Amino acid sequence: MRKKVIAGNWKMNLGVAESVALIDALSPLVADAGNVEIVVCPSPQALYPVGLKLSGSRIKLGAQNLYPVAKGAYTGEVSPTMIKEVGCTYCILGHSERREYFKESDEFVNAKIKSCIEHQITPIICVGESLAEREAGITFERVGTQVKGAFKDIPAEQAATLVIAYEPIWAIGTGKTATDEQAQEVHAFIRAELVKLYGAAVAGEIPILYGGSVKADNIDGLMAKPDIDGALVGGASLKADGFARIVKFEI
Ligand code: PEP
Repeated sequence: MRKKVIAGNWKMNLGVAESVALIDALSPLVADAGNVEIVVCPSPQALYPVGLKLSGSRIKLGAQNLYPVAKGAYTGEVSPTMIKEVGCTYCILGHSERREYFKESDEFVNAKIKSCIEHQITPIICVGESLAEREAGITFERVGTQVKGAFKDIPAEQAATLVIAYEPIWAIGTGKTATDEQAQEVHAFIRAELVKLYGAAVAGEIPILYGGSVKADNIDGLMAKPDIDGALVGGASLKADGFARIVKFEI
């Protein structure tokens, strides 16, 4: 059975003190959550102090990005070894904000995924279409290209350990969630693409999270769908009580 994952992407929103206050508030609220992997992804300067707070906790630490080289002259970048040193076991990759604002290509995302695999970090690989692409009827084509690009030259045994997040760009930070059916339709498509690449057994192991205005009041319907294995949560992960309710989804 593939794992359920609920991950919070705090983006560039919280300083160190705010990040520590959020993890202090969240930790007791999710201590008794069911069988779900809980991940928080603070901004880089807050990874170390939040990681210290998480020592011995069930909550896992994730970074929001990395540069796919262990060390070197890459001013302003953060390496896989650096995020690992402060306790990260997850890393968000290929978020649409990075693809759009920093022009990250499928090839670069693929290089970052390989770097994560090399350093035993689980990537949460984001894919998703824009509103224009959905309206042009090319959602599957766009998402299929991103999935194939992400998994290029990744062997099956490693592919089985990765996590995907389907995040329709038109639903991110807009308050406009995909309906449960719209999300399930694309998740099923992604699963079918993974079956083509790796066969049913491996494809059945890979959690596919939904992201895009997930909140306490829409998580239950999404999680009831067969191919939705969790959520990548932006805005609603910044409030401890709301995020705790998402973590404690009911199906
Ligand atoms: C995200 O940025 O990954 C995201 C899903 O944001 P939000 O939940 O705010 O739409």
